[in-house]
Amino acid sequence: MKLEGGCYCGKLRYEAEGEPRLKAQCHCRECQYITGGAPNLFMLMPQDGFRYTRGAPKAFARGDLAAPVTREFCPDCGTHLVTRPPALKSVVLKVGTLDDPTLFGGPQMAIYTVDKQPFHEIPQGMASFERLPGR
Ligand SMILES: [Zn+2]
Ligand SMILES: [Zn+2]
Repeated sequence: MKLEGGCYCGKLRYEAEGEPRLKAQCHCRECQYITGGAPNLFMLMPQDGFRYTRGAPKAFARGDLAAPVTREFCPDCGTHLVTRPPALKSVVLKVGTLDDPTLFGGPQMAIYTVDKQPFHEIPQGMASFERLPGR
């Protein structure tokens, strides 16, 4: 599939081509900063198929962690678009930045429920993991 999206102000645009490797909702404390408090809905897309078609993001990685993820966001409006985990050849694409978020279809699983808040919902019957599923 080929997905298109961008930031809130429109200065950043991207394309993400390929098959999603995972569609999930993440309850980790870090994601709560980015979403506003809800679980973060994302698609894991192949790194090779992801490119910016307009603008350049600002990137941020924490300096106090051994292997931090890199977060990319719009330098003007602040929309967080993707995260690049150092160990994966994938980008974590935020579903809310898609032009058509319905293409997401829905999460397959909930991850990092160790940080789940009492007001977070996990659909009944969906797989959930305290951290990541075993590989
Ligand atoms: Zn923007
Ligand atoms: Zn998370």
